[in-house]
Amino acid sequence: MNAQTPGTTPVLPTEDLGRTGERRALLVVDVQPTFCEGGELPVPGGEAVALAVAQYLHEHRDRYSLLVTTQDWHVDPGDHFAGPQGPDYVDTWPPHGLAGTPGAELHPALSHLNADPQVVQVRKGHHSAAYSGFEGIDPQGRPLEEVLASHRIEAVDVVGLASGHCVAATALDAADRGLRTRVLARLTAGVTPESEARAFGKLREAGVEIRSRDEQNGN
Ligand SMILES: [Zn+2]
Repeated sequence: MNAQTPGTTPVLPTEDLGRTGERRALLVVDVQPTFCEGGELPVPGGEAVALAVAQYLHEHRDRYSLLVTTQDWHVDPGDHFAGPQGPDYVDTWPPHGLAGTPGAELHPALSHLNADPQVVQVRKGHHSAAYSGFEGIDPQGRPLEEVLASHRIEAVDVVGLASGHCVAATALDAADRGLRTRVLARLTAGVTPESEARAFGKLREAGVEIRSRDEQNGN
């Protein structure tokens, strides 16, 4: 299981992947072209995160009881999109994640998950900002919390884009719901280092474990 192929390094030591028998879900937040270089609201390093998440899934997916993807899926999110005065990049943003556009699909490195019946696809923000995946619904209209409960999930790892925004909001909501929550920082990228540091500080206060980029390289 997870045999190391020549020339590759395991992303995590296997003993670090969680308690034995724990039902842990991986939440892949908003890994969409709209948030990668060339997209409408690019996060620096977004493309690299997409590729790293794909590699991580290839190596470690069998460690998770459930895999969930979230997507910003904006139809008319109100003042989440900037008006004529332009975005402030705090509460208002350039239009992004427009429902039905290529930029709102899963990143091509993850598009194989579209045809995977074991993956739950959650979309959020149809008519609101919806930073947290817990504001989203699956194709049957079930909120993420209900999806996780139906799979008896006790713990989550959160990865994706952007670390200080939708990843942080999702992790905070997971911790609030009593799930043992980790953010795997190596599989995230932030809009700015400051926004990430601020958000990670709040997450630690809320009891979320931040696995640093160094730790995850096996150091
Ligand atoms: Zn949005």
